[in-house]
Amino acid sequence: MPVSDYLVTIGLEVHCQLKTRTKMFCACPTGFGFEPNTHVCPTCLGLPGALPVLNGYAIERTILAGLMLGCSIPPVSKWDRKNYFYADMPKNYQLSQLELPLCMRGEVPLYPWSYPQDVLGKGLPPFRTVKLDHIHLEEDVAKLTHFSGYSLIDFNRAGTPLMEIVSKPDLSSPEETYAYLKSLQQILVCGGISDADMEKGQMRCDVNVSLRPSGQRELGTKIEMKNINSLSAVRRALQYEIHRQADELDRGIPQVQSTRRWDDEMGESLVMRTKENAHDYRYHTCPDLVPVHTRDMVEKVRSGLPELPGDKHRRLIEEYGLAGNDADALVAELAQCRYFEEAARGSGFGKKIANWVINILPPVLGERGATWESLPLPPKALTDLVGIVEEGVVSNNQAREVLDVLWGNPALDVARAMAKLGYRKADAGLLNTVVEQVIERNPKEVELVKGGNAKLINFLTGQVMKAANPKPNPKTVTELLRAKLGI
Ligand code: ZN
Ligand code: MN
Repeated sequence: MPVSDYLVTIGLEVHCQLKTRTKMFCACPTGFGFEPNTHVCPTCLGLPGALPVLNGYAIERTILAGLMLGCSIPPVSKWDRKNYFYADMPKNYQLSQLELPLCMRGEVPLYPWSYPQDVLGKGLPPFRTVKLDHIHLEEDVAKLTHFSGYSLIDFNRAGTPLMEIVSKPDLSSPEETYAYLKSLQQILVCGGISDADMEKGQMRCDVNVSLRPSGQRELGTKIEMKNINSLSAVRRALQYEIHRQADELDRGIPQVQSTRRWDDEMGESLVMRTKENAHDYRYHTCPDLVPVHTRDMVEKVRSGLPELPGDKHRRLIEEYGLAGNDADALVAELAQCRYFEEAARGSGFGKKIANWVINILPPVLGERGATWESLPLPPKALTDLVGIVEEGVVSNNQAREVLDVLWGNPALDVARAMAKLGYRKADAGLLNTVVEQVIERNPKEVELVKGGNAKLINFLTGQVMKAANPKPNPKTVTELLRAKLGI
C-alpha cells in the first residue's frame, strides 16, 4: 500500500553540549579545536581512583533549559552509572541520570518559521507543540577517529557537560522533526545554554521511527537511526527510512527493533546492531556523587528567564512594525537580531533597518568574512546611515558607498564619511538654482519630456547630479524636476 497509508511515529533523543567553561566532573576547560589530549586530567581520563566533582553551573543551565521548555523540576535529582564497554569511555561507565533526571515532561513549540523552506511555500502548518519525556544531564565521551587498521582517540571532549533532551514519540513527519530541531536550537541559543551547532557536533540526534497501518492502535516496531549530523540530513534520513520500512512491511517482512547508521553520502541507512534495552546497561546509582537538591537553583534560574523566540517574534512585529517574514528571519539568528535591535531601538524606522540587516548587510558580511559581532559598523552607525536615506539626503545606492567608506575607516562617523564622498545635506535653495539652470540650458529635452518622453527625465536628473555640489539624492532631484515641469 502507498506510504501515505501508514501512520508514522517519530521520537528523538537530542544530545546538546552545554556552553560551560569547564567540564562536568572536573576543572578541565571545555572547547573545540585544541591539540588532542591536552585538556585532560585523571577524572576525565577515567583513571582508577579519580573522583568526580559536580559542575553546579551545568546543572543550573539544564534547569534553565527545562524551565524554558515548561518542564517540572523535581526537588531531588541523582546520578547513575550507565555501564558499557567501548574505547571512548575507558572507565567503562558513563555518568548519567536514569531514575531521577533534572527535568520532567515539558514541550517544544514548533515555530512556524522553523519548517523547511519548501514546506513554508505551501502555506503554514498549524501551530503545535511536541511533548517531552524528560531532560537529563550526563558527560560526553572521548572522540574516536577511525583509519584503516587503527583508530585515534582524543579525550578533550570527554567529560563535557551533555544535556539529553528526550521527546515522547509525538512527531509524525520528517518536516515536523526538522521544525522540532530548529525550534529547539533557537530556544537553546536564546537562553545561552548551548551553541547547538549540529555541524560542530554540539547538537547530535538519534531518531526513532516506526510505522503502523492506519487504524492499528499499537505502535509498530521502532528503528533507531544514529550518526545524523545536519538538519537536512535528519529530514533525508527519515524520508529514506519511512520508505524503506513501508516497502518491507508491504512485502510482509516484519521489522526488528534495531539501530541503524545513516550514511548521508550514500543516502541510505545500514544496520549497526539489534537494539539493546535499558537493562543491558545495568544502570545503578553512582556511589561517588550525592543527589542534587534543586529548589534554590530553580528559584535563582526562574528569576532570570530569557525571552523565548515565540515572544520575541511577537514583540519584533509589535515594537518595530516588522513584516512576519522579517521577524522569522531575525528570530532564527540571535546575533543578527541583537544587532538589529541595537540599531532600530527608538529610531522610528525599524522596517527600513530590518531591510538593511536582513537583505543588504549579509552578502557584504559574507564577501568580507565578517560576523555580526566583528563587523566594523556599529549598530548606531547603521541607524545614522539609514536615517540619511530616510531624510532623502542620499539614495540607497549612495548609502552603500557611504557604507564602504565606513567599513574601511571604522573611526569615521556617517557625517564625515558622507563628506568624504562629497555628500552633504543639500541646501534647498542651491539645488533649486541648479535645477532651474539645467532646465534653461536643455530646452529641447525639456520639450520632449513635457511631450511625454518619460525616459528623458533621467537625462535631466543626470545633468543636475553632475552640476550640483554637494551631491544631492537623485530621487529628490527627479521629484524637483517633475514639480518644476508640471509633469
Ligand atoms: Zn578533566
Ligand atoms: Mn545519552
